[in-house]
Amino acid sequence: MTSSVLDVAAIRADFPILSRKVNGKPLVYLDNGASAQKPQVVIDAITKAYAEEYANVHRGLHFLSNLATEKYESVRAVIARFLGAPDENEIVLNSGTTEGINLVAYGWAMENLQAGDEIVLSVMEHHANIVPWHFLRERMGVVLKWVDTELDGSLDAGKVVDAIGPRTKLVAITQLSNVLGTVVDVKTICAEARAKGVPVLVDGSQSAVHMPVNVDEIGCDFFAITGHKLYGPSGSGAIYIRKERMAEMRPFIGGGDMIREVSKDAVTYADPPMKFEAGTPGIVQTIGLGVALDYMMSIGMDKIAAHEKMLCDYARAKLDGLNWLNVQGNAPGKAAIFSFTLNGAAHAHDISTILDKKGVAVRAGQHCTGPLMTHLGLTATCRASFAMYNTTDEVDVLVEALELAHELLG
Ligand code: PLP
Repeated sequence: MTSSVLDVAAIRADFPILSRKVNGKPLVYLDNGASAQKPQVVIDAITKAYAEEYANVHRGLHFLSNLATEKYESVRAVIARFLGAPDENEIVLNSGTTEGINLVAYGWAMENLQAGDEIVLSVMEHHANIVPWHFLRERMGVVLKWVDTELDGSLDAGKVVDAIGPRTKLVAITQLSNVLGTVVDVKTICAEARAKGVPVLVDGSQSAVHMPVNVDEIGCDFFAITGHKLYGPSGSGAIYIRKERMAEMRPFIGGGDMIREVSKDAVTYADPPMKFEAGTPGIVQTIGLGVALDYMMSIGMDKIAAHEKMLCDYARAKLDGLNWLNVQGNAPGKAAIFSFTLNGAAHAHDISTILDKKGVAVRAGQHCTGPLMTHLGLTATCRASFAMYNTTDEVDVLVEALELAHELLG
């Protein structure tokens, strides 16, 4: 195993699932872009929350409700610290990025955009950062303006800025492509967009797990994250919303917890962020997310990024040596996410099935990126996406499994 700034063996020991076998082979989990595995501390926190500390939050005056509320609410500050948000009240807790972006679409954009106004998007967005804007196109006549990726899979920040016109009211862009691994210079985009008075929403679903993030330094207006990719439970997540934008928003989902008073003919709302958090939330999921973020911060995001860069360089060199493999995206500074096809007509599903027989878990399909697949002229790819617990030995297993797939399908 190549040396790393991380004690990867110790980290792997924290993730019980990594020691299991799949199809009689040691599991090589390379589907982290879809969802990451969970460390024992998160599993323990979930069990403890249900076994010893569970009640509904915000509502009761009894001991357990107060305890659960305290545990749940304390996560807001953890997320603010993880994201570098100046104020924890700028963090809205939710079920993940999809909900976060829909909140911006319904709560902010529907209030502030009109027919003919434009939203600038990149062609490599995930459907979670496309479909909510199509809703606005269909319902309000908002115009979607697309910026293509370059041949190497990079996204030219200058082209995104150039796409901002007098009718542009929002830029909605990923910080890291879930297919190409491309890292986007969102800081430059935010600075230029801000100078033109245009807010920026950053989809941080993929980036926040691979690199240190500081929303204050990035200068964005919205930054969405999703807990299950951050080694936390599914059904947890959050969105950072700059205070000025919060003041321009209306609630999107109505119900309990987000109100001040309700009568037969009137309703007044709680202050943000509660105003945007209706109904019983994912209490235990959010508590688990807080523990996951603390776990990552205790290891250090800089170290995680350095380890994954080493893995990325190693994997890139190995995969480049397979002249029958087409890796999509080779942008400088890309993250350890590799989408590929084989020369010839081999289907991504067949490749992934062969890899699975060798214990290697990858994703196959469109990866919720229809416009990008069209742009690349592909119907599907296989994707190997790495995490802090992956090793260079696992890259070698991937390569061996790919050689077998090539032999059988190539
Ligand atoms: N954005 C990107 C870049 C993603 O990769 C994903 C998930 O794959 C999402 C958004 C949606 O996240 P979720 O399904 O957790 O809401």
